[in-house]
Amino acid sequence: MSFDVPFIRPSFPEPRLIAEDAQRIIESGWFSNFGPAERELSSRLAEYTGQGVSAITVANATLGILAAADAVFGEGDRSRRVLVPSFSFAASAQVAEWCGFAPLFVDIDPQTLQPSLEHARLLASEGHDIAGIIHGNAFGIGAADIDDWVAQSEEWGVGIIIDSAAGFGSVYPDGSRLGARGACEVFSFHATKPFAVGEGGAVTSRDPEVIARIREFENFGFAGSRMSAGRGMNAKMSEFAAAMGLRQLERFDEELASRREVVEVYRDALDGSTARLVPGLELSSVCFATMVIPHEDQLAATRQALAGAGVEFRDYYNPPVHLHPRFERWTTGALPETERAARMVISLPVHADMAARHVAAVAEALRAGATA
Ligand SMILES: *Cc1c(COP(=O)(O)O)cnc(C)c1O
Repeated sequence: MSFDVPFIRPSFPEPRLIAEDAQRIIESGWFSNFGPAERELSSRLAEYTGQGVSAITVANATLGILAAADAVFGEGDRSRRVLVPSFSFAASAQVAEWCGFAPLFVDIDPQTLQPSLEHARLLASEGHDIAGIIHGNAFGIGAADIDDWVAQSEEWGVGIIIDSAAGFGSVYPDGSRLGARGACEVFSFHATKPFAVGEGGAVTSRDPEVIARIREFENFGFAGSRMSAGRGMNAKMSEFAAAMGLRQLERFDEELASRREVVEVYRDALDGSTARLVPGLELSSVCFATMVIPHEDQLAATRQALAGAGVEFRDYYNPPVHLHPRFERWTTGALPETERAARMVISLPVHADMAARHVAAVAEALRAGATA
């Protein structure tokens, strides 16, 4: 089915710029394996994130989280648990399993929809053997209590990795960019994210040692020779993807500003409605605009108005990960706030340089839904 307003509309650099990059890559004869474009992108990403971080690119965020989990948690066994959010994408729970651990799903704070530290503490008090934490900044929005999570991980003596996949360019409420908290933060550059190269991602950390280990992991565990010193995988970014990333970075701040303007139009349209945009959305890179509609009639009316206007929308993250067929085996009970929120969310399209008539079509449907 095609929509007048698609949920995702990726933005690409000008073809002539891609052609220039292709020519340079072909002349260099360097296709992959940490070539000049990859090295430049890694250093630019670290510079952009600031706060003294180091960065390394990866083939995608899921492999980035896997590499990070290997570096930070080590080898697992199924009797030990890695805390992961359920109100998120499935990647972190998949990684917990691939590392040999069992995922332990954390509920959310109903106000922020971010992972609930209170629930994590409750799970720990029930006697689970917690080997590590994969926190998830929901929707790429920086959680306001991220420092409390880091402090808690230190108190438990376990590492914390932050899945910030949709949040490259987002800032935490204190104004610092995502990327410098926990043992490391992981970003996705998938086609559906605000900073897109197609398939790709990056890991950033204040600890260069973590980045060095991830770099080895993503190249078969090779440490300075072609012999595997540790566990590894192939998770390297190609030169073409890296060149695309360098181009995207040139226009990224402008695109972010234009995405954030769309949020304000949606916010105005929701004035007087029971619906609210998720807190902190305006500080994020706005992968999309998720709202919560607690009033059932308004929820139904909004869905109908959006569909009627040809607006494609989603209900991230519904169903939550602990209810996916693969993960039901690890659940330790219901996650009431996660399950409640999953029934009340609508995620709205936000594009960079979104056409005014598209923004207006969404806003009009929001107004129609609010008066139901
Ligand atoms: C997109 C996303 C991922 C996966 O990223 P890939 O680069 O596609 O592997 C993981 N976690 C979250 C929260 C995401 O939004």
